[in-house]
Amino acid sequence: MYHRFEENKYPTTNIKIYDFKKQIEAIKAAELEFISFDQLKKIILNKEQYSGKKIFLTIDDAFQSFYKNAWPILQAEQIPFILFVNTREVDARNPNYMSWDQIREIHKSKIGTIGGHSFGHEYLVEFSREDVIKDLKKSHENYLKEIETIPEAFSYPFGEYSSETKNIVKELGYLVAFGQHSGVIHQKEDIFELPRFPINEDYGKIDRFIFLINTSPLAYNFFKPENKLLSNNNPPNIEIEFTNNVRNINCFTNEGGQWKQSEITLLDDNWIRVLLQKEFKSRRGKINCTAKLKDNTWGWFGRQFVVTD
Ligand SMILES: [Zn+2]
Repeated sequence: MYHRFEENKYPTTNIKIYDFKKQIEAIKAAELEFISFDQLKKIILNKEQYSGKKIFLTIDDAFQSFYKNAWPILQAEQIPFILFVNTREVDARNPNYMSWDQIREIHKSKIGTIGGHSFGHEYLVEFSREDVIKDLKKSHENYLKEIETIPEAFSYPFGEYSSETKNIVKELGYLVAFGQHSGVIHQKEDIFELPRFPINEDYGKIDRFIFLINTSPLAYNFFKPENKLLSNNNPPNIEIEFTNNVRNINCFTNEGGQWKQSEITLLDDNWIRVLLQKEFKSRRGKINCTAKLKDNTWGWFGRQFVVTD
């Protein structure tokens, strides 16, 4: 997941073009295949058989810096991607965002897909059900008017969602939705909680990037709690049943506002309980678990909770 390109005053959402080019070279050097949204759909919706690891690039927010600095590279290399567009700023012709003409150019290209990212880019978990629907429908009016179709994929603003947000996104016809938790997509993943590795200046250095593109999914049967919006259950009782043995797993959380390794109880070879000592601080609680797999790659599983004041 990317946001800004060569807007170097925003290191947490920016990637320098020099680093972005190196990342593309690293993906090619590792002989991983870039896939389009249509190819991703075949794998995760139709469950088509596939072999080898795939890379799916996602870009959020439709900043002008994407169009100016990254789009020419992707176009020259014919690398597919999805661009998630929040429509209010675009419609208001905010100069930091792409124009509808530019978005149409991406939409009509062979490599670009347009995804939904709401109208106002608000904290939707704090909205009433009616207001979430109103916001998303406003964006749909914009998409219909400007690109004559409503996107099939959604990206939750700030990667935040509750069970209710998820349900609304489903009800409004989206086929899949992406969060901002780290992880590797697999065929057993909840298609309304797809993970993505955030790539920015802090986490975009080439060594870490090469590590990330070589990680494997840690597939799971269930994750509790289902609702990622925490209310009176902070810290949550986290239980995860993985599909395979995870006796060597380690989990890290930002409980109490600081990243640290969390205590785990193994309830079975593939089933863990994570024992949090402290509450997650506002506004995001994150958990990342990693385990060395039989094929010697690192398996990765991540989730993000929302904590409101
Ligand atoms: Zn966004």
